[in-house]
Amino acid sequence: MELIRCNHCEGRLFARLYSKQGSDGIDYTLARCSNCKLVQVNPQPSAEEVAKCYESSYFTQRTDRGYDNYYSDSIKKEITRVFTLNLEDLEFFPWEATLPDSKSTLDIGCAAGYFVDFMDKRGWMAVGIDIAKEPIHFAKNTLGVIAVCGDFLTWDKEIKNKYELITLWASLEHLHKPKETLEKIYRHLKPNGRLILSTCRYGSLAKVLRKRWRYMNVPEHLYFYSLDLLIEQCQEIGFKNISYITYGSGFTAKKNASKLYKTAKRFMDGFVKVLDQGDMMVLSLEKS
Ligand SMILES: [Zn+2]
Repeated sequence: MELIRCNHCEGRLFARLYSKQGSDGIDYTLARCSNCKLVQVNPQPSAEEVAKCYESSYFTQRTDRGYDNYYSDSIKKEITRVFTLNLEDLEFFPWEATLPDSKSTLDIGCAAGYFVDFMDKRGWMAVGIDIAKEPIHFAKNTLGVIAVCGDFLTWDKEIKNKYELITLWASLEHLHKPKETLEKIYRHLKPNGRLILSTCRYGSLAKVLRKRWRYMNVPEHLYFYSLDLLIEQCQEIGFKNISYITYGSGFTAKKNASKLYKTAKRFMDGFVKVLDQGDMMVLSLEKS
């Protein structure tokens, strides 16, 4: 692991927040950039070191961080429900209706390809990309969608102005180079094309719960943006017409949860959404 410069501002000074043991038994340090305040795992493990955490059990065994069989119908239904709600909240569907029949979209960090499949069925030319082999195999062979196993930053060199829409669903926090990824996305979008991005939000819940926060999963998650910092970064890149919502109250969806837990979760989820204090954020951004 090596101490790296801040991905957002290239700063070299950090305040240590705390350490947390990762799924691999290694202790990771959470640090805040003294200049721009971006919270990050630093020193940072390499992509090869993190890759071990995405072996097949990540998608098939329920842990704090993995999924309880990602390939099941129930997970597919839940994931589809959440992104459909996000798209409605961001007024995606009225915008989609203004686009020509022939349109392209790319989903970065597509996992099993559920969003690619959703867009494919809506008539888009849809492609997904992910570094994890097994879910890409599922996307191609079970769903029959176009999906590529690889790293977006080294794939598809410099094809500019190609996509009407690029999506990053809960992927930004996993990336070693989030800023470079956003810059490349910007170049790949057509003028007035949109990026829809969701990521965990470093806000009041994260500050109070610290290492117990549900998204503080290291080393899979490397960067934790506040809403303001993420908007600032996207504006610096050139994105405009930024809209967003926040949701999620810190209650994780659990199978076999008690009725009380489910009621509390429903109440709190609604509450934080209204107060704009959710620990997930989803943004819609437009290329100038
Ligand atoms: Zn910084």
